[in-house]
Amino acid sequence: MLEALQLKRLKQVVQRVYHTVGFYRRVFDEASVTPDDIKTLDDLKRFPFTSKQDLRDNYPFGMFAVPMSSVVRLHASSGTTGRSTVVGYTKRDIDTWSELMARCFVAAGLTKNDIIHNAYGYGLFTGGLGAHYGAEKLGASVIPMSGGNTKRQIMILQDFGPTAICCTPSYALNLAEQGKAMGVDMRSLKLRVGIFGAEPWSEKMRQEIENVLGIKALNIFGLSEIMGPGVAMECLEGRHGMHIFEDHFLVETINPETGEVLPPGEEGELVFTTITKEAFPLVRYRTRDLSRLITEPCRCGRTLHRMDRVMGRSDDMLIIRGVNVFPSQIEAILLAIKGVEPHYQLIVDRAGTLDTLEIQVEVGEQVFANADEVKVLQNMERQIAKDIKDYLGVSAKVKLVEPKTLQRFEGKASRVQDKRRI
Ligand code: ADP
Ligand code: ZN
Repeated sequence: MLEALQLKRLKQVVQRVYHTVGFYRRVFDEASVTPDDIKTLDDLKRFPFTSKQDLRDNYPFGMFAVPMSSVVRLHASSGTTGRSTVVGYTKRDIDTWSELMARCFVAAGLTKNDIIHNAYGYGLFTGGLGAHYGAEKLGASVIPMSGGNTKRQIMILQDFGPTAICCTPSYALNLAEQGKAMGVDMRSLKLRVGIFGAEPWSEKMRQEIENVLGIKALNIFGLSEIMGPGVAMECLEGRHGMHIFEDHFLVETINPETGEVLPPGEEGELVFTTITKEAFPLVRYRTRDLSRLITEPCRCGRTLHRMDRVMGRSDDMLIIRGVNVFPSQIEAILLAIKGVEPHYQLIVDRAGTLDTLEIQVEVGEQVFANADEVKVLQNMERQIAKDIKDYLGVSAKVKLVEPKTLQRFEGKASRVQDKRRI
């Protein structure tokens, strides 16, 4: 049954992108495949992948499969400059997304009788509005908190008595810490479940959150390119692996080096094909997220396959306080500043519950030879920190170091030290 539906939808979407998106027409032609080649689900394998770079090359609207007059919403992936990924939705896409987010809430045991505190950021980021529409679809009462303003959030948690909370796992810990500092017994709040995602987290972190907040913590997965939050969601009964909404998304795991499709259970890069999206359909989109598929039946009775928690990335993308950052973006900003050398190190850590980023970068001899050295250095540090904040949306501590003091590499440079133990 599901397979028949998937095949029907897959055929439709492949036809549609071939006729409406110049990029797909070109890459299908280059790979000598046509929409008619889809006879079974397995035939998808013969089609080329879509990469993040392809989306960037078609920035901002080049991948849209409908005219702008049919697009009712735009979002963009977090923390990037001109090269961010812009995604669009038709009215029906928003309905589907709301429906899938509502399914996520149901999987978390929520009903219209619940009050949902939504602390995902509202704005270009998909988290806030995605969860919001899903909560309304469910008929629950949604508190559109958005991120930040932590003290106020604690007050609302006490006064409005929400039964569920949505935010990043690190923000959940942050709230718990802040609450404790304010003398609030966070375990005695009415909260009973949390829906956490948008960044990697571990089983250990789950236990910690459950413990400090006195709730059940569930994992939700998504990415703007494929829809936003609600691509996959854990169920309350299983709490192991996230059910993928396979009636809307086809998933494959591939070997990131060779592109070869792996059997279920093996760890690889997740590749998604959207089979119902209208405005921004993607065929075989390489997420760079590493995980594995779980095909064993789940305790909850859902027959949708699951994906394990994301174990890492096959590229160097960092997620710092929920913002996606590529070291190459930092490099571009550093190198645009006069006197800065192309030698740097990024040190990512976690202070309490907050991610921190330190940038160590070498400056040229002439800067150190300058009479006003200290002042010049301070100004440069300030300038770099400001540019990083302005362009990427993350705060960084910048430390300028003397020429030739940072490590040099013989093979592949390893410029990132991620010390977070999550
Ligand atoms: P979002 O879908 O969170 O709005 P982005 O599109 O900016 O935001 O980021 C998507 C990326 O976030 C994913 O490709 C993945 O790397 C990461 N991510 C999202 N949810 C999770 C999760 N539950 N666990 C680990 N990583 C996640
Ligand atoms: Zn389940």
